[in-house]
Amino acid sequence: MAAEIRVAVAEGVAAFTRAHGRPPGLAVVIIGRDAPSTVYLEQILRGCAKVGIDARFAELEGEATEASIVARIRELNADPSVDGVIVQMPLPRTIRLRSVVDAIDPAKDIDGIHPLNAGLLRLGYDGFLPATAHAAVEILRRSGIEIAGKDAVVIGRSAVVGMPAAFLLVKEDATVTVCHSRTTDLATKVRRADIVVVAAGRPGLVTGAMLKPGAVVVDIGINMVDGRLVGDVDFASAREVASAITPVPGGVGPLTNALLLTHLIRAAEAQAADAQARDEAHPQPVSAG
Ligand code: NAP
Repeated sequence: MAAEIRVAVAEGVAAFTRAHGRPPGLAVVIIGRDAPSTVYLEQILRGCAKVGIDARFAELEGEATEASIVARIRELNADPSVDGVIVQMPLPRTIRLRSVVDAIDPAKDIDGIHPLNAGLLRLGYDGFLPATAHAAVEILRRSGIEIAGKDAVVIGRSAVVGMPAAFLLVKEDATVTVCHSRTTDLATKVRRADIVVVAAGRPGLVTGAMLKPGAVVVDIGINMVDGRLVGDVDFASAREVASAITPVPGGVGPLTNALLLTHLIRAAEAQAADAQARDEAHPQPVSAG
């Protein structure tokens, strides 16, 4: 699925570049290079380079202040060669997430973290979706798994993963139960579900014994256990009971990265169309000679 999307992305990048004389641009704000997520962000940059996207790190020192991060984001908002902005998470403890999220221009917020995009999703309108939640539901759609009328359980209620996944499933007409760390008797809730989406960051949280036979399992979790990357689902026992299950690594992750690039192309096209509309409304005077 990710490979298919990357082919479409490469075509989209080529068409945008022909039409506008420059490739779509992505800026990745990173605060110090030693955070574990830098490796993941470098992967995104390499993926961009392969399809001709102009992607770069906008790097700040590890001791950067909130004001300097916000100022850097505002510069990127104003830069016409930058169509999308993503920010390395988690932020250093001293930086308030809300200040950073609010600073991103919603038109460049390709990972859907700005309150405007979160609100659009909540209301069922088209905004930018958080790429991970988008990937979790896109995997179901592209696999031809029926969502409408099904009982779904989402484990995790974070603003960037669990809740957006739950809203998307509701939009697809599933009946959704959202579980979290204070949920009592998780196993009973999971056992009722036709679709189980797990985004808790707890390895082994869901086992085959908890699943309804034939359930579909989407594992969003990413955990390092004894130097190995694993999800939140005990894959070996769950695959015996599930009718379909995503692996970790190689499941939601690659699709997330590919979908993020489709969001970037959409952002680039929308901003180019806005700029053109502005130019047509207020044409620049042509200087004589
Ligand atoms: P998060 O902000 O830490 O949220 C975790 C959620 O899981 C919280 O809502 C928490 O409940 C709930 N939870 C924790 N322990 C639980 C338990 N024992 N039973 C039930 N619920 C429990 O994490 P996140 O940012 O949403 O990320 C979730 C996972 O997805 C992580 O493993 C992360 O690495 C992974 N992730 C994957 C991708 C990808 O592309 N595949 C992208 C982003 C994140 P409370 O709200 O009560 O605390």
